[in-house]
Amino acid sequence: MEKIPQIFIVSGPSGSGKSTVVEYILKEIPTMLFSVSHTTRPPREGEEDGRDYIFVSKDEFGEMIKRNEYLEYDHHFGHWYGTHRSNLDRAAEQGKDLLLDIDIEGARQIKEKISEAVAILFIPPSREELERRLRLRGQDDEEVIRKRLERARQEISQYRGYDYLIVNEELEEARLQVHSIICSERKRRGGEKAGCEKMGAQMDARADEARRGNNNRRVSAILETFKETKPSKG
Ligand code: 5GP
Repeated sequence: MEKIPQIFIVSGPSGSGKSTVVEYILKEIPTMLFSVSHTTRPPREGEEDGRDYIFVSKDEFGEMIKRNEYLEYDHHFGHWYGTHRSNLDRAAEQGKDLLLDIDIEGARQIKEKISEAVAILFIPPSREELERRLRLRGQDDEEVIRKRLERARQEISQYRGYDYLIVNEELEEARLQVHSIICSERKRRGGEKAGCEKMGAQMDARADEARRGNNNRRVSAILETFKETKPSKG
């Protein structure tokens, strides 16, 4: 009989360290399948069709919406993004859990349909630190940095829709926290163990530390840093 996959959602602004942690999790947990999204945005340099995204035209995307083929979808930065239902079927066939890297609106839609889905939000330590990381990457011009900071503020202000909050001050700690959350949630529901063998006695406590209820005040303080100063002009 096919096992029902557990769904893990990660969201967070660019520069929050989310992608690095996702890569690490997929390497450490072989029974986790990454949900490759469909998008209408053009591929960036180095991106591969089918690995990073499935790149489709606006018309194709619209047809799939009409046929109700998306578990969730959203529009931002001028493009469509969505999670195709077949990703969930594929995980079930392979006996794996499913990891989704999607935005806040997508997370909301999934939680509405599948309440057991576990949602994790990555949060930068402050607006200043996020701005520093974005500049360090050197990918964006000033206008894009300003937009990303504003979007980050909006995303973080919706933190109440998430089960766990990762304030990413130190990458190693963030990795351990996410790994602990996944393994602790699997254990709670009697799920897959592969990739969780080495987690040790601290696993549940570490996951617990990241629970939203234990981070409300910290995140409120971080949100304040986004209100205090306007992003510096380029
Ligand atoms: P990017 O264009 O930088 O790859 O992604 C932009 C945003 O789209 C990120 O916040 C990412 O999490 C989100 N995203 C990627 N795939 C999906 C998806 O399938 N659904 C939704 N709702 N958001 C997505």
